[in-house]
Amino acid sequence: MTTPLVAVENLATHFPIRRGLLRRQVGAVRAVDGVSFTIDKGRTLGLVGESGCGKTTVGRSVLRLVEPTGGAVRFAGQDVRATHGAALRALRRRMQVVFQDPYGSLNPRMTVRSILEEGLVIHRLGDPGTRLERMARALEQTGLARAALDRYPHEFSGGQRQRIAIARALVLEPEFLVLDEPISALDVSIQAQVVNLLVELREQFGLTYLFISHDLSVVEHVSDDVAVMYLGRIVERAAAERLCRQPLHPYTHALFSAVPAIDPARRRRRIVLPGDVPSPARPPAGCRFHPRCPLAEATCMTVDPPATTVAGQLVHCHVAARELAATGDAAAASATIARRLAEAVPAAGEATGARAAIHS
Ligand code: SF4
Repeated sequence: MTTPLVAVENLATHFPIRRGLLRRQVGAVRAVDGVSFTIDKGRTLGLVGESGCGKTTVGRSVLRLVEPTGGAVRFAGQDVRATHGAALRALRRRMQVVFQDPYGSLNPRMTVRSILEEGLVIHRLGDPGTRLERMARALEQTGLARAALDRYPHEFSGGQRQRIAIARALVLEPEFLVLDEPISALDVSIQAQVVNLLVELREQFGLTYLFISHDLSVVEHVSDDVAVMYLGRIVERAAAERLCRQPLHPYTHALFSAVPAIDPARRRRRIVLPGDVPSPARPPAGCRFHPRCPLAEATCMTVDPPATTVAGQLVHCHVAARELAATGDAAAASATIARRLAEAVPAAGEATGARAAIHS
């Protein structure tokens, strides 16, 4: 068995809530609360969920842009949380990030040359001559001309700025990229171009991605595997095609029901969940999804559902576990859960619109 490039085990990132004159800690926002996954080299894991579910904090915690409070992160077998100083800097060159907002993530006072060169200087890579070649090559790999080096970010469109942000990561020749909502700030007309660029770069350089998005249709298109997050935890994980074909968790069913489908065979009845996501400072007891789950039972309110795995598909749900035990077949269990959800939730019409985003 090969070692995964990225292995995250029971990751927790809690932010303290402080009050009073002495700023005493009175609680904690449990943004990430026991997340585990692995990503093999050259693969893409899509991480989806509503705003505030903790997916961005997972990406930042893996890179230690925020300090995790618990759990383990390993990159190529190396313990990221136990690495410091020069060793951490060397590791960071291999693990890069592309942020959501290409307007905010590029310093408007710096030329593209300075933006790209900064990382090379920090990581002490090359001399001025080889750096120039490396920067020009990174720009060309993202579809921009060398002449862009002497211009400022404001001279470019949103899509071009995101290409510069990708070039800034690529110039360091990383192995792993955290793509944090890389297209959600872009016009719909150019989102597909940037997604296709990311796919091409992955194939060309054998890159490994953690692709964070609220847009299920994009995640499904880009990812080999998909993990669904709710309130700081992964509630379901499977190969992308399998998760789309036979979701088990009621929350995953609700997310997929909001994805518009041209193919009538893939159209699902829209499931509109009641209420809002609870505060991660006070997560509900038992299953965290129970206040919004149309299938919630008494057990769900008190007992945290353990993981059930069938043919690589992992789900945290009492009802799904029972259906799997009864049928022994994920497709049959998925169909039963879909039917029960349709009976429990009033029809809300077909999902419509040009984009497949999560609305619940
Ligand atoms: Fe719904 Fe219960 Fe399953 Fe949670 S464990 S998703 S509340 S059925």
